[in-house]
Amino acid sequence: MSLTRRQFTIASAAAMAARFAPPLIAQPADKPVGYAIIGLGRIADHFMDGIQHSPNSKVTALVSGHPDKAARYAEKYGVPKSSIYNYENMDSFRDNPNVDAVYVALPNSMHAEYTIRSAKAGKHVLCEKPMCINVTEAHAMIDACKQANVKLMIAYRCHYEPTNLKAVSLIRSGAIGKVESIQSAFGFNIGATEWRLNKKLAGGGPLMDVGIYCLNATRYLTGEEPADLHAYAFSDPADPRFRQVEENLVWNTKFPSGVVASCNTTYGSNMDGYFHVYGSKGWIEARPAFNYDGLRLRAEYQDASGKWISLDEPNIQKDPYQFTAEANHFSHCVHHNQTPKTPGEEGLRDMEYITRLYSSAGIQMLA
Ligand code: NAD
Repeated sequence: MSLTRRQFTIASAAAMAARFAPPLIAQPADKPVGYAIIGLGRIADHFMDGIQHSPNSKVTALVSGHPDKAARYAEKYGVPKSSIYNYENMDSFRDNPNVDAVYVALPNSMHAEYTIRSAKAGKHVLCEKPMCINVTEAHAMIDACKQANVKLMIAYRCHYEPTNLKAVSLIRSGAIGKVESIQSAFGFNIGATEWRLNKKLAGGGPLMDVGIYCLNATRYLTGEEPADLHAYAFSDPADPRFRQVEENLVWNTKFPSGVVASCNTTYGSNMDGYFHVYGSKGWIEARPAFNYDGLRLRAEYQDASGKWISLDEPNIQKDPYQFTAEANHFSHCVHHNQTPKTPGEEGLRDMEYITRLYSSAGIQMLA
């Protein structure tokens, strides 16, 4: 069956609308979902803060290679000493009835191993983005969670974030007409000692780390999967930070309905992550779109009566609201045996596109 461009747009918009339904309201359950936090770095800190505001989630165990740090967090979150693990003995949390799920917040190349070990220990897995560092690992993670009958969600927080959700719903409502093109960018000026510059740990450069927000946004904003992708990368040979991973990567995506996207990511400059969507009848921009807070949505379009609407909506919610929403959703799925909105398959798709982008830019990924 062949679809006209309009039919295709409607069909894929319907599919995406289902994926982008407003976040489920978490039901306070008798027992909150207990999380073991694996890796106590910067993002784990935001997530643990977020869980404090979640009615259905609780930090119940910690996994760390640093006993002092683990002891500090254990005191802060009321985690008993008996529920502090290290990377070697972590698997014994299989017998800890207070651990229902894990949150994997380690460097990218460790996501697959710790997801699979957690699944084998019978725990549901909420894993940070990027899901892993190649497609083979992504399949192995999905398979391990299926085999163990545990849930796998990738922590794409923008899927649970009201500013991003409103942009999607305005586009789906037809407010800006037919989407023609999208611009998106995200990057930062990286410190020289970051593990993110070590390819073995990071798997790639800014594309894996922050460009993935733009890639994922172009998919949820259009409700389509890329038909074609082309990338171009450049690293300053004189800058020792970029001996292993790319400094800059730009890419173009063509979607089946004809929408084109132009994206940009870097480790060389601070860019507030944003997207700007041009439609046949108006535009929508979220800027910043991907930060932990301070998001702002602007748009101009005509309503049904032809009156011009000028929208400017700063989002006043404060960090860690996005992490609370994410935890609420995953815990709800665990309690009610539902598939998360951003399951392993969503991470796998991005990993497939990242593979194509690196290949297009002539960059070899780690096997
Ligand atoms: P981080 O450096 O702050 O924390 C990494 C943690 O891993 C540390 O606790 C560190 O001790 C531990 N670790 C264990 N083995 C390590 C090793 N060999 N080398 C380095 N650290 C090791 O990193 P982060 O910024 O918290 O990022 C962690 C993950 O979270 C990454 O996958 C990143 O992409 C993701 N992340 C997601 C978001 C988001 O908004 N969803 C934001 C930032 C980071």
